[in-house]
Amino acid sequence: MMVMIKSIEIEAFRGISLKKEINFSTDEKRSCCTLFVGDNGSGKSSIIDAIEFVTQGRIHNTQSLSSKSKVEAFNKFTNKKPSISITLTDGSKFSRTIVVDDEGKRKADQSVMPQFRIAPFVLRRINKLQFWITEEAKRQVLFFNYNLKDNDINKHSSSLNDSFVERIKELDEERLTEKIKRREARGIIAKYKNIDESIIPIVGNDFYSWIRDNLLNGMSLGNIDKARNKGMKISIHPKIESSLRQIILSNKRIKEIDNEINKYTPKTATTSTSKNIINNIFNELSQSISETFLKLTTLGNAIDKIIMKIGEVSEVSLSFDIYLKNGEIISPERILSEANLDMLAFVVFIEMTKKAVEFGQAPILILDDVFQSVDSGVRLKIVKNIIDNLKGWQIIISVHDRLWKEQLIELLTINNIKLDVYEIINWKSDLGLILYSDSMLLDITLKKNIESGSINEIISNASILLEKICTNLSFYLPISITRRKNDKYTLGDLWPGIAKELRKTNISLVIEKINQLIYLRNMAGGHYNEWSLSLTRNESIEFAEIILDFYYNVYCINCGYWLQDVVVAGKKIARSCRCQKVYVE
Ligand SMILES: [Zn+2]
Repeated sequence: MMVMIKSIEIEAFRGISLKKEINFSTDEKRSCCTLFVGDNGSGKSSIIDAIEFVTQGRIHNTQSLSSKSKVEAFNKFTNKKPSISITLTDGSKFSRTIVVDDEGKRKADQSVMPQFRIAPFVLRRINKLQFWITEEAKRQVLFFNYNLKDNDINKHSSSLNDSFVERIKELDEERLTEKIKRREARGIIAKYKNIDESIIPIVGNDFYSWIRDNLLNGMSLGNIDKARNKGMKISIHPKIESSLRQIILSNKRIKEIDNEINKYTPKTATTSTSKNIINNIFNELSQSISETFLKLTTLGNAIDKIIMKIGEVSEVSLSFDIYLKNGEIISPERILSEANLDMLAFVVFIEMTKKAVEFGQAPILILDDVFQSVDSGVRLKIVKNIIDNLKGWQIIISVHDRLWKEQLIELLTINNIKLDVYEIINWKSDLGLILYSDSMLLDITLKKNIESGSINEIISNASILLEKICTNLSFYLPISITRRKNDKYTLGDLWPGIAKELRKTNISLVIEKINQLIYLRNMAGGHYNEWSLSLTRNESIEFAEIILDFYYNVYCINCGYWLQDVVVAGKKIARSCRCQKVYVE
C-alpha cells in the first residue's frame, strides 16, 4: 500500500499560533493533490515546513532550531512550544515538540520517520537557485541529504545526514576572510620593508625561510619565542611581527577549514562498492533525466542527450554534458535559457525523489510555491510531467498566484487527480482555513445543484463559477480594471469590463441576460440570509443556467483552455480556445 499523509495537527509553529488540524483526502486508486492557496505571508509555507519538520526533523533542510537560524520555528504570538503531530494512511502517528532546556537551548527529537528516511521531498525555490549557483565541483553536496544507497527498509534508525551545504558555505566564507587578513598582513610587511608584496611567499616552507632570512636575522620565530622566554631581548618591528603572526594564524585556520570541508566528502564514496552503487544510481538517473528533459524542452530537436557526470572534476562534483545533434558537447549553462535551466533542475529533483520512493520512501512530493518565476508554459509542462510520472502519489502544492491556481485546478481535474483546495484566508486573526470541498468541477456541481440542491447552493455555486470565469478572462482578454494589491478582485471589479468586452460579440445575449440577473448574486451574497428567502427556485435556476451557458462559451472542456485572442501577424483575427471548438467573434 502506498503511504500518504492523512492529517496533520500544528500548534505554535512558525506562522501558525493556534492549534490547527488539516486533513488530506486520499484515494487508493489515483493520485491525490492538495493545493494550499494564499498570499505571500499567509502561512501556507508554515504548513509545508511543519510537514517537513514532523517527518524529517528539519526545517528548510537544516537541523538548526536556533533563534538565529533563518527559519524561526517558534511563533511569536504565543508562549506555547512548537508542536506538530502527523497521521499517515498506514496508521502510524508521530509527534514532535521543541522544548527549551534550563540554559535556554532549544531541543527536539530530530530522528527521521522511517517512511521519510531516504530523501528530502519538499522542493522550494531556493533549491532550484542553489542548484545552478553551487559550483559543479561541489554540487553533489546538495544531495548529501539523500540516502539513496540505503536500500534496507528495516534500518529504521538511519537518519538523514546533516545539512552540509550551509556548513560548507560558512566555511567558504571564513576561508575568504582569512585570505583577506593574510593578504593585508603581507601588505603591511611589504610596506615597512619597502618592497613589492608579490615577492613575499605566503605559505609553506618558502614563507618560513623567507621571513627567517629577511626579517628575523636568520632565526625562526619559534627560536625567537624560546629566547625571549629565557629573558633575551629581541626586537622586531611590532607591526611586522604582528603581521607575521597573523599570516601564520590564518594559514593554520585555512588548513583546518580545508580539512573540515574534506571531511564532508562522502566517506561512503571512498569504498569502491558503495561508490559503485552511487555511480550506478546516478547513471540510471542520468538516463531518465535526459529522457524526461528532452520530452519537456522545446530544444528537443537540437539536443541528442544529456549525460550527468559524477565525481569527474572532484570527488563531490556533479556536472552535465549536453550532446548536440551536430556532434558538439556543451555545458547546460552555455546553451540553456533560464527557463530550460529551471526545467532541468526540476527534472533532476523529481527524478531523485522518484528514486527515493523506489528505495522505500513514502510517495509524497511537495512543491512550495516553486513556480513563481518559472514561465507558464514551462510550469504547465512540469506539472503535467509530474502527473504522468508519479501515478498514485500524494502531491502537495502551495501557490499564491491566482491564475496559476486556476490553471493548476483545470490541469489536475482534467487528469483525474483527487483534489483538495485549501484557501488560506484571514490567517492572522482567526487562523481560518476555508476548504473548498468536492472536486473543483464547479459546472458539474452546479448541474447537480440545479437538480436537487437548495436555492442557496444554486446561487452560491453559480456565483463562484461566475467569479472563476471572470478571474480567468481578466487575464486573457484586454479588459480594463483597476489593478489591486495582491491581485484580489471581486466580481464587482471584473464583471463590468468583461461584459463591455463581450457585449458586441455573438454571445451578447448571454451577457445581457447575466446583466439582468446578476442582482440575484448580490441578494444571496453567497451566504444564507433573509434576502435569499425571497428568491424563487425558478429565478435561481435561470441564473445558474445562464452562467453555465456563459462558461461553455468561454471555456473549452475539450482542450482545457479559456477564450483568448488569436493574433496572426500582429492582427487579432478571432477569439478562441486552443482547439477552436470554443469560438467567439
Ligand atoms: Zn478547445
